[in-house]
Amino acid sequence: MNRPPLPPAIESAELAWHNGVPESKRFGDVYFSRDNGLEETRHVFLRHNQLQERFSQIREGGSFVIAENGFGTGLNFLAAWQAWQSNAPAHTATLHFVSVERFPLTREDLTRALALWPELKALADELLLHYPPLVRGVHRLVLAGGRVRLTLFFGDINEAWRALDFRADAWFLDGFAPARNPDMWLEDTISQVRAHSKPGTTLATFTSVGRIRRALMDAGFKMEKTTGYGRKREMLKGILETEGPDQPERPGTIAIIGAGIAGCTLARNLAERGYPVTLVDSRAPGNGASGNAQGALYVKLGVEFNDQTELALTSLTFAQRFYGNWRGQYWHPTGLLQLAHSPQEADRQARFLHRNDYPRDIFWPVTREQASELAGMPTQSGGLWFPRSGWLEPQNLCKTLADHPLISTSFGVEVNRLLPCNGQWHLSTEQGSTLAADQVIICSGHLSPELIPIKGRFRLKAIRGQVSHLPAPAVTKPKAVICGNRYLNPTLGDIAVTGATFDLHDSNPLPTTESHEENIQELDSMLPSLFSPNAGKPRAEALDGRVAFRCTTHDYQPVAGPMFDGESACLDDLYLFTGLGSKGLSYAPLLAEYLADRLTGQPVCLPTNLVRRLETRRLFQAGMAVS
Ligand code: SAM
Repeated sequence: MNRPPLPPAIESAELAWHNGVPESKRFGDVYFSRDNGLEETRHVFLRHNQLQERFSQIREGGSFVIAENGFGTGLNFLAAWQAWQSNAPAHTATLHFVSVERFPLTREDLTRALALWPELKALADELLLHYPPLVRGVHRLVLAGGRVRLTLFFGDINEAWRALDFRADAWFLDGFAPARNPDMWLEDTISQVRAHSKPGTTLATFTSVGRIRRALMDAGFKMEKTTGYGRKREMLKGILETEGPDQPERPGTIAIIGAGIAGCTLARNLAERGYPVTLVDSRAPGNGASGNAQGALYVKLGVEFNDQTELALTSLTFAQRFYGNWRGQYWHPTGLLQLAHSPQEADRQARFLHRNDYPRDIFWPVTREQASELAGMPTQSGGLWFPRSGWLEPQNLCKTLADHPLISTSFGVEVNRLLPCNGQWHLSTEQGSTLAADQVIICSGHLSPELIPIKGRFRLKAIRGQVSHLPAPAVTKPKAVICGNRYLNPTLGDIAVTGATFDLHDSNPLPTTESHEENIQELDSMLPSLFSPNAGKPRAEALDGRVAFRCTTHDYQPVAGPMFDGESACLDDLYLFTGLGSKGLSYAPLLAEYLADRLTGQPVCLPTNLVRRLETRRLFQAGMAVS
């Protein structure tokens, strides 16, 4: 056996192909029946969970949750998605599919395995386009325009079910045969199946082994043997016959305060799930920290693969998939170069590369020559190349996101206070009017502390950032985003945006010549060949630019979750989503997905360790108010 890879990489499946059917070398078993895998899936999993009938009965804005053990080739998932396409109601509803895989197939093997099913080709192509890099942890794939959401945990099954927060309507119990794959059928695993089930949850499995049937019965399922598929004479189906509410309540009216990238991604996410929202802002969308003409999609991955790094990585890959919807419009996946621009950064990158093992679809290290080639200009060092990153037009994107029939906008309205009143939140405005909503999410960036009902106790600060607009003729045109002690974007029209300053104790809202000067100096030291020798460096006093205030927490990590009440619990129906610092474009799509999961009671796309990392409670400082 080879040594397991360093984090965050995960061992992939090793396949043997016999007559075109994939088999696992590790487990010595087939992924699906040799007779006809698709028909087997339909018989065992779709029919015996009565998916056709149950799909058609889902209420508007509702969801149906299938959980599976063993994603394998994704055949079961695609078959369920196809059945959803044919049987789901005409109104908006979401199919959630939660699956786990300890040894994921490589993209190449998955492509080959799914090519066996011509009738699933369109769905398989979409899955392949979104298939995540082979790194441990949770990946959320938003497919079919949001009508299908796949939560894929790459790791061991027991780790997965402990880390994920969801309750299934139907289970596909599909490990390899119990004798060959005992880990998949442990009592602990079966008790996790029970813990993640609702009253009335059904299950189906190809196996009819007595021990499994008894363990499922002990866990509370009423089990029945029935006819199996093909050469398998028998299979099992079951139902959890317990009492209790089976549908989460709809969240009522939702108001989001702040139409930057956080508020706009969240509003759009909820609207696409069929939930009407009101989006309030004192200005138009994307006018604060998300209002720059260009913004880089960039995270800094830590030397240690800890929760912070995991959150940055999963946010980055989710954001790359999310912005793919606006490719050719506001999303420009030119690639991004993270230069080893100083001895400290070169040392950090060396330690990072030594400790970790990242697949090439996330990044790969490049020499100085390669970096220069990719950047389109000479660089002074090598660095890391992120082939799927690039830059965005954030303001245009925010406007587009806010434009949806289920989003009512109240722009030009400044909320100055939030008060609980008769089970709702009242939003009183500068203009003297009051809005009411059942659920409120504060996404107001550096203005958020003003709206938090417990004043001055949450460690949030505003950090001034000024960008400079370099005139295109003054610079060698970069082919990709270049990051170091500053970032520089490829040109957009007649400018290239660079920045930003990081001014902790400066509240000047206007661009200053000193800040432009600082941007030019830093950029010149990072890329000495950037400014054309004839024209020289642009004059700081002649530059245009823009100032915005990033909202940052004391630990420089984002915050997204229910608002801590300052004692031991959370305030009802009030959420905070901010603290994205200068990485809002990277964090916002995934954290919006997470909050929308919570608000709608649907499966949560983040594991518990990352949910904890985002909590509002950690910002709370007892005693003295923070300034
Ligand atoms: N449902 C799959 C499909 O549609 O192609 C077939 C699943 S295959 C029969 C079983 C899968 O379980 C394999 O992909 C295997 O790698 C995975 N597996 C085995 N042991 C596991 C474990 N301990 N945790 C998570 N996955 C595991």
